[in-house]
Amino acid sequence: MKTTEVLAAWRGILAGRAPSISIEITKECPLRCPGCYAFDDAHLGGGTTLRELSDFKGDELVNRVLALVDRHKPLHVSLVGGDPLVRYREVEQLLPEMERRGVHTQIVTSAFRIIPAEWQKYKYLSVVISVDGLPAEHDVRRKPATYERILKNIQGAKVTIHCTVTSQIADRPGYLDEFLGFWSGVPEVKKVWFSLFTPQRGATDVEILSADQRTAVMNDLYVLRRKYPFLDMPEAVIAEIKQPPRNPEECIFARTTATFSADLKTAISPCQFGGDPDCSQCGCIASMGLAAVGHHRVVGPLTAGHIFMGSAKIGAMWNRFMRRPEPLPEPASPFHII
Ligand code: SF4
Ligand code: SF4
Repeated sequence: MKTTEVLAAWRGILAGRAPSISIEITKECPLRCPGCYAFDDAHLGGGTTLRELSDFKGDELVNRVLALVDRHKPLHVSLVGGDPLVRYREVEQLLPEMERRGVHTQIVTSAFRIIPAEWQKYKYLSVVISVDGLPAEHDVRRKPATYERILKNIQGAKVTIHCTVTSQIADRPGYLDEFLGFWSGVPEVKKVWFSLFTPQRGATDVEILSADQRTAVMNDLYVLRRKYPFLDMPEAVIAEIKQPPRNPEECIFARTTATFSADLKTAISPCQFGGDPDCSQCGCIASMGLAAVGHHRVVGPLTAGHIFMGSAKIGAMWNRFMRRPEPLPEPASPFHII
């Protein structure tokens, strides 16, 4: 991020605005992945589910998304879903508009459709592909977006691969090395990120990592980042695995990102997971990335996190003082990972 962008983000926070927004631009998805949080009953707080919301198509979707962006003036927008490429034509209309506004745009998709090579002309665009492990596991969980289909659909493009590590993956020594070895041979992949599966509080999903597994993954990543430079996870980010935020109020990511569901009104809180996520077991790459920034010492004991928290308080007071008719939703989530 450039200095001018950091200053713009800080200005926005002081004015009570989130510098990042995440938009579920559709409720539709051709996949039925086990453990999908977007379609979990608790995702929108328990009253309504994503499938029950009304969503938009065509010019109406494009115009409403741009209006949301123009109102909130974020530096970064994640287009998620469902799968945002269900609205492929609308995305094609949105991208030049986002570029013209200088907004960093991230599309998070399963790549069940072609990622056009010509999208590389957009300097502010990144495309993140969700991959659930090696083919034997991924193809079962993410059918029809199988490895074969992803490799075909990303030909000529530039993408980031994002894999959520589950207990099943963590249980197999050498798995992450094999995964990185595979993707290092694919020329379209410019970087790889790992998250750790983040459960809801009280959940018992088989995907949940034990404390020992979290430590083992962390130690593996320290070694693997030296072996595979395209593993885009600095040591400071990996270190956050052992000290996730204790609650959403301490999560800079949740506090700097406003997340909207498919009706473009419903706010998802406290972060992109919705519901009641277990922050103590969080492994979200975005949360770890911003936590690492927050722990960076600026002067003496003063960290970037102290400055952020102080600025956010001022921003909230400013919003109250101005009695804004449409305040941003409370902490909700530059990455929304599906
Ligand atoms: S995890 Fe993503 S791709 Fe899978 S069902 Fe959920 S929204 Fe669709
Ligand atoms: S992203 Fe932040 S708020 Fe959400 S579960 Fe992780 S730590 Fe908690």
